[in-house]
Amino acid sequence: MALIVQKFGGSSVADTEKIMNVARRIIDRYDKGDQVVVVVSAQGDTTDRLTEKAFKIHPNPPKREMDMLLSTGEQISIALLAMAIQRLEHKSVSLTGGQVGIKTTNQYSSARIENICCDRLKSELDAGNIVIVAGFQGMDDYSNITTLGRGGSDTTAVALAAALEADVCEIYTDVDGVYTADPRIVPDARKLDTISHDEMLEMASLGARVLHNRAVELAKKYNVNLVVRSSLNNNSGTMVKEVSNMEKMVVKGVAHDYDTAQINVMGVKDEPGMAYRLFRLLADANINVDIIVQGEVKDKKRDISFTVAQHNLEETVAIIESNKEELGIKEFTYSSDVAKVSVIGAGMAENAGIAALMFETLAQEGINIIMITTSEIKISCLIKPNEVEKAVRAIHDKFCLGQE
Ligand code: ASP
Ligand code: MG
Repeated sequence: MALIVQKFGGSSVADTEKIMNVARRIIDRYDKGDQVVVVVSAQGDTTDRLTEKAFKIHPNPPKREMDMLLSTGEQISIALLAMAIQRLEHKSVSLTGGQVGIKTTNQYSSARIENICCDRLKSELDAGNIVIVAGFQGMDDYSNITTLGRGGSDTTAVALAAALEADVCEIYTDVDGVYTADPRIVPDARKLDTISHDEMLEMASLGARVLHNRAVELAKKYNVNLVVRSSLNNNSGTMVKEVSNMEKMVVKGVAHDYDTAQINVMGVKDEPGMAYRLFRLLADANINVDIIVQGEVKDKKRDISFTVAQHNLEETVAIIESNKEELGIKEFTYSSDVAKVSVIGAGMAENAGIAALMFETLAQEGINIIMITTSEIKISCLIKPNEVEKAVRAIHDKFCLGQE
């Protein structure tokens, strides 16, 4: 008998018919003799709707109450799904994050799971129940409801799979798995059979929002077998697992991200500690910096350009503005009229030609590169947003077509 954790996203439980379908799917698995724990998200765009309601009441909704509010979306889903399974004459029980014993930190809206006590879950499973758990939520030490950040139900599912030592964690979504590029832009993008955790993290953080990043990190840390597959068919999906044939370097995919903005600070004093001071200020404000490029020294001064997510741009500009003097910044410019395209694949560092081929491809399309960054497993270029589709298609043609 295997223990399976399945997660169904909001679009898979959006209406009555879909809930009944999901219920049948879960029952199929249970009837094969497996124990099944199911994590669900809020129906459709419920979380967005709840957020809108909050902002109509308060321009800056108190975070504790926001988590109290948003967690209700998942609570609706678990109750309806448990009812659907019971209607189909199977035993099922729904549990909130708190009831399961998902203990989190107290950072509302971005809480982290600290530990999960599996006693209740195990006794419900042993009693023959299909257990339905609310995704995205937990409870802090003082019984306050917390949420794990948008998209956090994936993380709930992987964390439960890790805690229960489940045989597999299946993430059901409305796509067949992870693709070599966004199929809406590249019609001949292929579904990948496997992808490594690190590659998946890059794909996810670079705009291929199939899985919550922290879910992938957890799966890697606790060795959870993770599969992304469609809730609409029986295709095998994409396995997220460590790859064994690192030698055979293949570019796994092309990702793009419109959610980026560029800041250029000019005339930073060329002395130790300047970059530290600038980026410390941003880090303290919880702003993630992505690409950083520092220019040559001119008159004992340097220019530094970097990127942040668009929703952080306003705050970043305010921080620089109010610390200009101290940082010795003469002037700075910024723009959100940029986007990022990246090629991703483990073993990139050992393959010298990849970067050149990517730049050549962009050059052939007449696309100007604004900034570049590379790592072990990716090369990213900042370009103009209106050239993203063209870039993604050309790079995909060059790197991803004709592979197995
Ligand atoms: N319902 C939450 C959201 O929309 C969590 C999730 O779907 O994973 O972000
Ligand atoms: Mg999601």
